[in-house]
Amino acid sequence: MEFNTKLLHGRAVKKYADGATLPQISQVSAFQYDSAREQDEVFHHKAAGYAYSRVANPTVAAFEQRINEMEGGNAAIACSSGMFAITLSLLNMLCAGDEIVAGGGLYGGSIDLLEDLTKFDITTRYAAHMTPEEIEPLINDRTRVIYGEVISNPSLEVTDIRAVADLAHAHGLVFIADSTTATPFLINPIALGADIVVHSTTKYINGSGNSIGGVIIDSARFPWDFDKYRALDGYRNFGKLAYTVRLRTDIWENMGGCMAPMTAFLNVIGLETLGLRMERICDNAARLAEALNELPDVTVNHPSLPDSPGHELAKKQFGGRGGGILTFRVGSKERAYAVIDHLRYAVRATSLGDTRTLVIHPESTLYIRSTDDQRRIAGVYDDLIRVSVGIEDAQDLIEDFTEAVSAAG
Ligand SMILES: *Cc1c(COP(=O)(O)O)cnc(C)c1O
Repeated sequence: MEFNTKLLHGRAVKKYADGATLPQISQVSAFQYDSAREQDEVFHHKAAGYAYSRVANPTVAAFEQRINEMEGGNAAIACSSGMFAITLSLLNMLCAGDEIVAGGGLYGGSIDLLEDLTKFDITTRYAAHMTPEEIEPLINDRTRVIYGEVISNPSLEVTDIRAVADLAHAHGLVFIADSTTATPFLINPIALGADIVVHSTTKYINGSGNSIGGVIIDSARFPWDFDKYRALDGYRNFGKLAYTVRLRTDIWENMGGCMAPMTAFLNVIGLETLGLRMERICDNAARLAEALNELPDVTVNHPSLPDSPGHELAKKQFGGRGGGILTFRVGSKERAYAVIDHLRYAVRATSLGDTRTLVIHPESTLYIRSTDDQRRIAGVYDDLIRVSVGIEDAQDLIEDFTEAVSAAG
């Protein structure tokens, strides 16, 4: 089955109750049973069924099964936000004293989270670029996880997933990839060796900018060394499933970061058109990048452009597509603001992966809590504009942006 067919007819797409073509929105907190014995069996996982929506919910399960199939995982666990998915993907396997090695150019919120974790004595070493050469010297005997994004943003570097996975595994380390900006349309990190994938579903998976959510997908392939990953020690009997089992029955359930049923329903609808939207978005982004690149006084970055840092790896891993985000530098912060203010169609808003084109000045918004050093590694400059390209007609977008650049002087 090809990508778009699988979205609509894959194994995870069920015939739902009453023959419904979509899962019902089980907007409830609890599920009732006819007898105490029945309830006992559900609570002891001896009978199929649901008890309480923080623990499991049919609408959420329907979404988890679909995204899990699209990523080629063994299990998916949906969370209240992308940030909570990232938080739990790490905390599920880490103890105080453990270290993370992270690629530079992380999402601003992720940098802030890793800073928060230092208060729990979980520290992070940053590689300026997510390459084996830069990661390897940062690994020591306290390192437990390599964490990085498939396409960094706004620096738009592309990670060589197989190379980083091979390096991680050579050191007995787990590799978590945040694939929010790439989506399963461009890449399945698990197929290339990543052990765990996280997404902010808020972005391309939901696709219409109507709800916050996240998901963790476990390949269940990592051979956990339980003396090294002490957080998973109580789950030895589950072998390679230890990570999923601890997450599902312990930390995710106890920390209470479940996805809302309504959000799961909206994500199921969104996911069905992921291929269609991504195809259009990637084409639009490449055409807009090319048009902006013609202008004399702007510097454009999009992996479809030959001089973009992500170009070669985008060709190798994404079949030449460059994703939906592009950035351009216009010479000064004042000019960047003027360009942004002149745009007619592009919406001045945070977030990305929406149907409509979104534009933001990252330095004065997303990275206000970062240090100069973190901003430099992330590729954030005061004259840089980030565009999350939408599904509008390319010609209108090109006109909108070229007119705004010339109007800005
Ligand atoms: C938006 C985003 C997040 C955070 O997701 P939320 O749903 O906003 O919590 C994490 N990683 C990346 C790459 C993102 O773009």
